[in-house]
Amino acid sequence: MTFYQSTAPSPAYPALQTNLSCEVCIIGAGYAGLATAASLLERGIKNIVLLEAEYVGYGASGRNGGFVFGGFSLGNQALIKQLGLARTRHLYQLTLDSVELIRQRIDKYTIDCEKNDSGVLLANWFDDERILTQQQQFMQQQFHVDWELWSCEQTREKLHSQRYFGALHEKNAFHFHPLKYAQGLAATLVAKGLQLYEGARVNKIDSSTGEKIVHTRHGQVKAQHVVICCGGYIDQLKPALSRSVLPITTFAMATEPLGERLDEALSTSAAVYDTRFAFDYYRPLADSRILWGGRISIFNPHPREIARLLYDDMVKVYPQLAGVKVEHAWSGKMSYARHQMPQIGQLPDGLWYGMGFGGHGISTTTLAGEVLADAIATRQPLPSGLEQFGLPASFGALGLLAAQCTYWYYGLRDRWKE
Ligand SMILES: Cc1cc2nc3c(=O)[nH]c(=O)nc-3n(C[C@H](O)[C@H](O)[C@H](O)COP(=O)(O)OP(=O)(O)OC[C@H]3O[C@@H](n4cnc5c(N)ncnc54)[C@H](O)[C@@H]3O)c2cc1C
Repeated sequence: MTFYQSTAPSPAYPALQTNLSCEVCIIGAGYAGLATAASLLERGIKNIVLLEAEYVGYGASGRNGGFVFGGFSLGNQALIKQLGLARTRHLYQLTLDSVELIRQRIDKYTIDCEKNDSGVLLANWFDDERILTQQQQFMQQQFHVDWELWSCEQTREKLHSQRYFGALHEKNAFHFHPLKYAQGLAATLVAKGLQLYEGARVNKIDSSTGEKIVHTRHGQVKAQHVVICCGGYIDQLKPALSRSVLPITTFAMATEPLGERLDEALSTSAAVYDTRFAFDYYRPLADSRILWGGRISIFNPHPREIARLLYDDMVKVYPQLAGVKVEHAWSGKMSYARHQMPQIGQLPDGLWYGMGFGGHGISTTTLAGEVLADAIATRQPLPSGLEQFGLPASFGALGLLAAQCTYWYYGLRDRWKE
């Protein structure tokens, strides 16, 4: 069981046992499905059915690190090379707007998800200040965003580790309990009229006629529009989508409550990641645990092995935490396209989709919800630039192997730099 499951109430929604008709049927109750439902409801579309194979937040959305910040899995420098500065700026701004929208929804719908507004720190793993100053100037000059530079001394006053040589503080970012956010948003939407079914795995979508028919084991849904939001859990539901997404497994763990020992490591409640390609990320939790995550794998290790790997990563940074117990360890699947950008759009048979959010999925799924709702409710085109990222083949097992090798290669490069 993940730490999040052990601390979130998990209300049950009914299974689909009948046939229904609706305006929009959404498949998958992760953030992408929930955000699409929220944006549609906020635009006045009322007759929406959301079908979830397991339970709300079962996938990456209920298992992630909880870092809510702007940007895409593909970095801004690479994005500028492909789209130019103006369109990159616009898309990056949309992710910042989405961070703000999540904040507003938490407030407006009084979602209790342990929101922590201390921001996010990008800690420098390398003894080379230029890494931070260049990044800070780049964000300031190109995106007019102010990431505060912390010296090595300032950083070590807050993060008691000899591993770091300074940091950038992204003050406007925040962190939260991801499963509580998914559940809170779902409860709000159901109260506003969303018809939500759990244990309702979609096994076929008939899109041969104008009105689509979505099949589950015990019921069907007829819909004018269908939106597929199945992330890294899509399996073979829709081959045109399945073959363009790599389900990449990544790990997280939570320690036991550390009480005063937490202060030996952290004197900040900001969330932290570092400047390596294969970075650690972690944050203090409300009850004095540390949530720690990192790594990717094409294998599916036992939680005991995940706990061991992440514990070793943690004591490498904070040797003073040696001996603390890891109480929960788990994995989750992120969906990655080869181009590392979200895949949002409509297939030739009329089905809509929103997937490929990678490791930067909290704000970008919210962005996808807005974009899909605009397209469905008011026929607006995708924001300029996004349409460029299509559905290239991901080459299944070979693609996964390539992703793992890339990760190992960059991990080695980081170690060499170190
Ligand atoms: C360990 C981990 C840490 C991460 N940390 C962060 C972070 O700190 N910040 C950040 O921005 N991003 C992070 N991410 C990424 C982020 O969580 C994801 O990008 C995002 O949650 C994807 O949302 P989604 O709705 O596309 O997919 P998911 O949340 O995976 O949801 C897909 C849903 O579709 C359902 N489904 C699949 N097939 C069917 C079917 N046939 N019928 C019905 N339902 C179906 C699944 O059961 C699932 O609930 C992390 C991811 C992981 C795994």
